[in-house]
Amino acid sequence: MAIEHIVIVGGGTAGWMAAAALSRIRDGRDLRITVVESEMIGTVGVGEATIPPFVGFNRVLDIDEREFLSEVQGTFKLGIQFVNWGQVGESYIHPFGNYGYDIGGIGFHQVWHKLRQRGDKRPLQLFNLETMAAHFGKFSRSEDYAREDLPPMNYAYHINATAYAQYLRKYAEKRGVVRKEGIVKDVALDGETGFVTALTLDSGTRIEGDFFVDCTGFRGVLIEQALETGYEDWTHYLLCDRAVALPCNRDDGSPPPPFTRAIAHKAGWQWQVPLQHRNGNGHVYCSQFMEADEAHDILVANLAGKPTAEPNHLRFVTGRRKKFWNRNVVALGLASGFMEPLESTSIHLINTGVNKLIATLSLDGVTEAQASTYNRLATKEYEKIRDFLVLHYKATRRDDSEFWNYCRTMDVPDTLTEKIEIFKANGQIFREEDELFTTTSWAAVMMGQGIQMEGTSPMADGVADSSVKEIDEMEKSIQWLVQRMPSHQQYLEKYCRAAVAA
Ligand code: FAD
Repeated sequence: MAIEHIVIVGGGTAGWMAAAALSRIRDGRDLRITVVESEMIGTVGVGEATIPPFVGFNRVLDIDEREFLSEVQGTFKLGIQFVNWGQVGESYIHPFGNYGYDIGGIGFHQVWHKLRQRGDKRPLQLFNLETMAAHFGKFSRSEDYAREDLPPMNYAYHINATAYAQYLRKYAEKRGVVRKEGIVKDVALDGETGFVTALTLDSGTRIEGDFFVDCTGFRGVLIEQALETGYEDWTHYLLCDRAVALPCNRDDGSPPPPFTRAIAHKAGWQWQVPLQHRNGNGHVYCSQFMEADEAHDILVANLAGKPTAEPNHLRFVTGRRKKFWNRNVVALGLASGFMEPLESTSIHLINTGVNKLIATLSLDGVTEAQASTYNRLATKEYEKIRDFLVLHYKATRRDDSEFWNYCRTMDVPDTLTEKIEIFKANGQIFREEDELFTTTSWAAVMMGQGIQMEGTSPMADGVADSSVKEIDEMEKSIQWLVQRMPSHQQYLEKYCRAAVAA
């Protein structure tokens, strides 16, 4: 059956990202797109840190970066600073962008390791532009210096989640997407195919559609409540199942740093996401080891200023839907699964989900091949991200709480164990297929949390001998560039000062 009407249920980040991207395939076609959302239910209201592919998502939508950042009170993000993860008192930055560049086909961190063994004391961080700029609170975009002999700046944004959904709503409505207010009370299925055919809202309005995108958040109104797709539970690997979110002012007047902070506490961790006018904060924790009151108190004791809202308590189960595309329904956002916000991967998964949907969708109708391809690709993507997140918990030396004792000694997926073993052997990291996280990401977290290369790559010997000059140049060019950059605060003021206070 031809697809003439796509119905997106849910108007959070997922719903409006899907609507904005799908609105681009309406051009010149008789395709209707409707978003159903309920102000009564509202959105989850968190999700403010992104990763670099998000910048590309906006570019595909032809979104003007300055206008966008100004409307969402956005700041730039060069990576995440992890505090207290390997051991209390330690910290490291997981940067966007690479450590140096591969030399002679070998990862830079392997060559660096060889030099280190020969007595070179320079830390690996000196060879990463984003880490150095973050360290000094500086920022520039590659376009500002436009020199091919200097490394590019890889960045993402911190955004106000509510303002972002509103921004995309305007974008999508301008391109013909129709919004309907109401709560979905009933979902009609075709007796033969089991496909969703129509929704009935609390007002009694009936909305028929050919293809449905479930963006109803944790509820999964179509994918789970109507289609009973099932959920693969990953709480044995990713234990945290609660969060309390609480935005605050920066009362000390400190400038917003160009990075997210993830500070580990005794049964979870706290995020600090700097917007132009305030910080987003939250404490993600495991209810087996901590009560909500204690989690709240720890968060309040670690805020940069006065709270600007009431605490928002959230519950979740880490894992994923057994199928992301079931019959004529694709689930995006929290309706498709959730792996906790440690590496800001949820909005990214909405982005890649929408991309996959647009790439596989045919307006001639839904086929089994489309669904199974989508599901296979999305499953791989989820599992690779899961392994990377689990690494942060497993690679700890903390023994100061039951939570960390569990994490340190838990069984992890074989795929992760292999990755760690190979890294220890000679520093090799394989980036498999379209895996999101780079060699530098894996090296940053492993080394940042105390997993060291025990052996060296046999290839690294010769390369280390012949490339000392090249490596010195790398260090100098990063230093030179960072010294000339404006502060992050100065950059924001000049480039994208927020239009409306958060
Ligand atoms: P929601 O925001 O919950 O929206 C659901 C929508 O469905 C709403 O519009 C609601 O009204 C509608 N709806 C529900 N039921 C019905 C119904 N019956 N009828 C009609 N409408 C209905 N992601 C990141 O990338 N970075 C982060 O830093 C980050 N931090 C996070 C921190 C926490 C604690 C949590 C829980 C998540 C975080 N995420 C983060 C994930 C991110 O918040 C979500 O991926 C993103 O907000 C998308 O949410 P959503 O649109 O799927 O769901």
